[in-house]
Amino acid sequence: MSGGGLDLPAMKKLLALVALALMSQPALAEEAPKWSLAIHGGAGTLDPKAMTPEKRAAYEADLQRALDAGSKILAEGGAAMDAIKAAIVIMEDSPLFNAGKGAVFTWDGTNELDASIMDGRDRSAGAVAGVKTVKNPILLADTVRTRSEHVFLVGKGAEEFAVSKGFAVTPPEYFATPARREALERLKAEKLSALDVDYKFGTVGAVALDQSGNMAAGTSTGGMTGKRWGRVGDAPMIGAGTYADNRACAVSATGWGEYFIRVGVAHEICAQLKTRGILGTQDIADAVMADVKDLGGDGGVIVVTPQGEAIFSFNTTGMYRGRATSAGVNEVAIFGGEEKASATPDH
Ligand code: ASP
Repeated sequence: MSGGGLDLPAMKKLLALVALALMSQPALAEEAPKWSLAIHGGAGTLDPKAMTPEKRAAYEADLQRALDAGSKILAEGGAAMDAIKAAIVIMEDSPLFNAGKGAVFTWDGTNELDASIMDGRDRSAGAVAGVKTVKNPILLADTVRTRSEHVFLVGKGAEEFAVSKGFAVTPPEYFATPARREALERLKAEKLSALDVDYKFGTVGAVALDQSGNMAAGTSTGGMTGKRWGRVGDAPMIGAGTYADNRACAVSATGWGEYFIRVGVAHEICAQLKTRGILGTQDIADAVMADVKDLGGDGGVIVVTPQGEAIFSFNTTGMYRGRATSAGVNEVAIFGGEEKASATPDH
């Protein structure tokens, strides 16, 4: 052997020593388990001038309550699935959002509720549509997931299933609110479209990553004001309004449902994240939302990833939203650009 180089046996010995040294090192700054939660209460054409301080405070208070309920579960080591259900039930029970109590009216003057839920561990999923007598449709969707062989039940059949599983029959009047009734009356009187009366849409959703690395997503809505003919949007459709896969992300969407169905928004984001290359989560979510916009649709999404990110992307002036993470992020926002925190926990 010439020069000062090592011969092969010496080189092997050196490598073995380096490997041994690395293995016996104490783990560098053991990473604490991460969790993250994002929620939305609908996206749409929100007019900042129409938002009084009282109205803003009321929305922010209910968003914060939902965020706190979910993040408490996650911070204490609970399951992503439990966290999203806790957050969504609070928003379904609030008359401010278009889900559960406060749902929009159909053309025929009824409230027809849609919801879906998905577990990222095994991609088990449940969904219901056109339900009129179940107080918390997200819990019924979850019961379809856990206690039936099916994924998607609609209308009367879904209500019969609910009764068979012990759900109380909620009187339809429970869901009705004067503001939503007025929106339907205006739509009919002025021959407007659902988009003209709904300056926001108001669907609710939540996505979470728990400390065990599991993710879950859920979405609940009354749909669009004046909907007819059994119209169903993206919210209860797995792959369009809701998707969760531990290998990629959890997504919940809100907006003009027909476009979200055509793009398959929630699944599309997760699919692109699985093969992301150098693109960041925000870039991918923005690109999918740009695709929705190119077709003529609007709305937004919330996304969490196994890395602990909690991302918003919307192409409307506002989206009622909130996020909390193990890195100390905790915020609610309404209009575009109001976030104070960085989207990723490491920054
Ligand atoms: N995406 C819902 C639907 O089309 C509406 C919404 O998000 O507000 O039914």
